[in-house]
Amino acid sequence: MRRICILGSTGSIGTQTLHVIRQHPDKFKVVGLAAHSNSELLKQQAAEFGVGQTSLFVSEGIAGLNRIATLEEADTVVVSVAGVIGLLPTFNAIQAGKNIALASKEVLVAAGELVMPLIQKYGVTMTPIDSEHSAMFQCLQGYRSDQVLELILTASGGPFKGRTRAEIGEVSTEMALKHPTWSMGGKITIDSATLMNKALEIIEAKWLFGVPLDNINVVIHPQSVVHSLVKFTDGSVLGQMGWPSMRIPILYALSYPERLTNDVERWSPELTPNLTFETVDHDTFPAIKMARQVELHGGTMPASFNAANEEAVALFLQGKSRFWKIYDAVQHVIQSHQPLPVSLETIQTADSEARSLVQTYLLK
Ligand code: MG
Repeated sequence: MRRICILGSTGSIGTQTLHVIRQHPDKFKVVGLAAHSNSELLKQQAAEFGVGQTSLFVSEGIAGLNRIATLEEADTVVVSVAGVIGLLPTFNAIQAGKNIALASKEVLVAAGELVMPLIQKYGVTMTPIDSEHSAMFQCLQGYRSDQVLELILTASGGPFKGRTRAEIGEVSTEMALKHPTWSMGGKITIDSATLMNKALEIIEAKWLFGVPLDNINVVIHPQSVVHSLVKFTDGSVLGQMGWPSMRIPILYALSYPERLTNDVERWSPELTPNLTFETVDHDTFPAIKMARQVELHGGTMPASFNAANEEAVALFLQGKSRFWKIYDAVQHVIQSHQPLPVSLETIQTADSEARSLVQTYLLK
C-alpha cells in the first residue's frame, strides 16, 4: 500500500491522480491534500478519500505545502503545483525520505543540480508525471545511460503550428488556450503554444536521465500519440504510444515498477494510420534555442529563465501582455542575468529578480 500526498490536488493533474487512485483502493491510500484556493473541491476530496490532513495555499501559504509534503504517514508525494513554487516542498519531502512523483517540471529546470544529488543521497525515487518523460522513462527500463544515443521528445506544436512570427504576434489569450490535443492547466497550455514547454522539458529530461542536452532533441508530432522516443547506440529506437491522456503517466509514476489496470481508452495502430513527424520551426518559436543557451550558462540561469517565463505567462493570462512579448521578456531577463553557482538562496534570489524585471519590462 502506497501512502500518498498530493500537492495541487484540485488542479488538472491532481484531480486525475485522484481518479487513478480511486480505481486501486487496495494499492493506494491518500493521506494528505494541498490545494491552491478551491476550498470546496478540497473539502469534497478529503471527505471522499478520508483524508485528515489538508492545506489551502491561500490561507496557509508555503508552510502548508511543506507540512503536507513531509507528513509522517506518507511515503510518496505527488508534486503537481503550478510552477517553481513546488521547489521547497520537494526539497523537504526528499529530506523526509519521501518518493517524489513529479509533475511540476519547473522544479527540475530551476534546481535540478540540487535536487538530483539529494534524490541519490536520501535513496528515494523520482518518477516523472510528464507524458514525454514517462515515455522515455518506460523506454529506458533495463538500459544504462551509456547505451543511449539520443532522447527525442515529441511536441504537438501547439495551436499556432505552421504560423509565421508575424501571425502569432497578436494572438489572444483565448486562442492560445485552445490546445489541439491535450487538455491541461492554463500555464502549461500557454507554454505549449510558445513551445516554452519543450524548452523546459529538454532541461527536465537532462536532469532526470543524465543525458547531455546536445543529445536531446525535439520533433513535432501533431497527433500526440507517440509520447517520446529513445535512440540507442545500436541504432534501435524505442517509443511509447497511447492516446493523449495523463492517466497513463500518472499511474506509472505511482505504480512503478509495477503496471496496474487503467480505465483509459485503448489505442491501436490502425486507429491512427497517419502519424506524422516534422522539424521544429525554430525561427517562429525560439524557445528551445533559448533553453540551450540558458543551459550553457548554467548556475542560476535556468532558474532565472524559468521564473521569467512563469511571470510573463501569468501577465499574458491576465491580459496584461501580448503573446510575442513572452519571448521578448524572457530574452531580456536572460541577457541581463549574471548567473551564480546554485544554492536554494541564489535560486530564490534569481527567481524574484527575474519576476520583477519581467514586471518592469512588460508593464512599463
Ligand atoms: Mg509534457
